Amino acid sequence: MTGIRAGLADAPGEVDVLVVGLGVTGVGCALDAVSRGLSVLAVDAHDLAFGTSRWSSKLVHGGLRYLANGQVGVAHESAVERGILMEVTAPHLTHALPMLLPLDVSTRRREAAFLRIGIGAGDLLRVAVRTSSETLPRPRRLSATESHHLAPVLGSGVRGGILSWDGQLEDDARLVTTIARTAAGLGAEVRTRTRAITVHGRGATLRDELTGETHVVAARSVINAAGVWAGDLVDDVELRPSRGTHLVLRALPGLRVALTLPVPGERNRFLNVVPQQEGLVYVGLTDVPVEGEAPDVPEPTEAEIDFLVETTSAALAHPLSRVDVVGAYAGLRPLLRADGRTSDLSRRHAVLTSSTGVVTVVGGKLTTYRRMAQDAVDAAVARAGLVAGPCSTARLPLAGAAPRTELARLAAASRAPRLVRRFGTDAGLVLASAREVSGLTDDELLAPVAEGVGVTLAELVFGVTHEGACDVADLLDRRTRIGLVPSDRSLAVPAAHRALTLAKATVR
Ligand SMILES: Cc1cc2nc3c(=O)[nH]c(=O)nc-3n(C[C@H](O)[C@H](O)[C@H](O)COP(=O)(O)OP(=O)(O)OC[C@H]3O[C@@H](n4cnc5c(N)ncnc54)[C@H](O)[C@@H]3O)c2cc1C
Repeated sequence: MTGIRAGLADAPGEVDVLVVGLGVTGVGCALDAVSRGLSVLAVDAHDLAFGTSRWSSKLVHGGLRYLANGQVGVAHESAVERGILMEVTAPHLTHALPMLLPLDVSTRRREAAFLRIGIGAGDLLRVAVRTSSETLPRPRRLSATESHHLAPVLGSGVRGGILSWDGQLEDDARLVTTIARTAAGLGAEVRTRTRAITVHGRGATLRDELTGETHVVAARSVINAAGVWAGDLVDDVELRPSRGTHLVLRALPGLRVALTLPVPGERNRFLNVVPQQEGLVYVGLTDVPVEGEAPDVPEPTEAEIDFLVETTSAALAHPLSRVDVVGAYAGLRPLLRADGRTSDLSRRHAVLTSSTGVVTVVGGKLTTYRRMAQDAVDAAVARAGLVAGPCSTARLPLAGAAPRTELARLAAASRAPRLVRRFGTDAGLVLASAREVSGLTDDELLAPVAEGVGVTLAELVFGVTHEGACDVADLLDRRTRIGLVPSDRSLAVPAAHRALTLAKATVR
């Protein structure tokens, strides 16, 4: 039933494009290439969204940060891609996030004016790239009373604030999974548990991690989208990652907006406190160089957790304590070392063609994945002389996408608005296919899998039948994000086993 599968059984031995890595960049490349009419095999050593793509802040950035650094080109590209994601390709997986920048008694007038001008410039960019103010409202100044109304957790020193809007993802791993499902729906072969051992411009040796067998695949072009591990596959790219850590908190009382909090004593550095749809709050971000090899799953350190707790507490009426922290996660940003120099790729992406002919695409953001994929596939097509159509992904809605008005109508009429939020117009398909596979009633399929956890059995079953999940970790850590709170994860393990058993008979 699914075009996303584990291992290499029945995989093609020859394709136009082989993509290595199924983070947002790799699945973006698979979708771009298959939608140009090319045959595609896309693989990951582990699973969809196993790497950095699931450890992000889950924001769709409009590029304000880059404007502040004078990087107008990068900011413009972010704003364009944010508009495409929110208005065309993924309205179901994105929404407008109100963000409050509190100004307190210690904020100097000049500083406040500078922040207001920056946020105003960010809005001009939104207008310039034609993202509607219905999608992202205009920023405005708030009084102290209004600021406290939106964020009662703030301390008493607040004398006002600036309210602006940016994009928020429903979930980063869900975006990756949806892009992969869209690519598979157009005919791409998407294989998890498949590691590239060696790659060159005309193919690769792949290892099926389920069986341990190696397969030689011929490809007219090879795209290396292995993120911070890209340098392990080609000699002429070297990456030095830096770790960014987030805390996961249960909801802060009354918080109705995200908070942008300055880091005391540092210029132009802020923490974000970002409420999520189902009661959690993420707080980030640190920036710590990683020595040695990039680990598969980076771990936050105690010092990073303390830093985030203390910095956030400084702005709150009641300080956080470690017991408020119900989870923490870390992701690796790439820093590229090339020609003896280093550059920070977390701002701009790079497409590099190695002497062997492999096209490597690294850096960038979730927000700009589509443009990164376009640039990488353009480079691969040109190098291999492939006959391919033009890139059309800016106009290609992802699976389940629909205009916001239609999504709102669907959610209002649905017994499971959560499914509409995560699958858009495919919410009905998720429930119907889970019903067919399991023989269970809608009540059983739509009940939360554990107390305090909104995830349903229907989406776990769908994860196995339609999204290539093959074990408990795929279901709890990537198809859903229960794993971000370890105590919730433990409660949900039996449901994941049940979904795997129910779906087993259906999936080869
Ligand atoms: C802390 C943090 C917060 C961020 N927040 C945001 C944000 O809010 N918004 C935003 O737009 N961007 C954000 N970003 C940036 C964004 O998350 C990354 O740019 C993006 O996820 C990188 O995706 P990728 O596909 O290039 O890499 P990855 O997601 O790391 O994917 C690489 C994949 O390659 C696979 N792989 C590696 N080696 C092999 C091999 N030999 N064979 C097969 N597969 C292999 C890995 O298993 C992995 O799945 C953030 C980044 C960090 C670090």
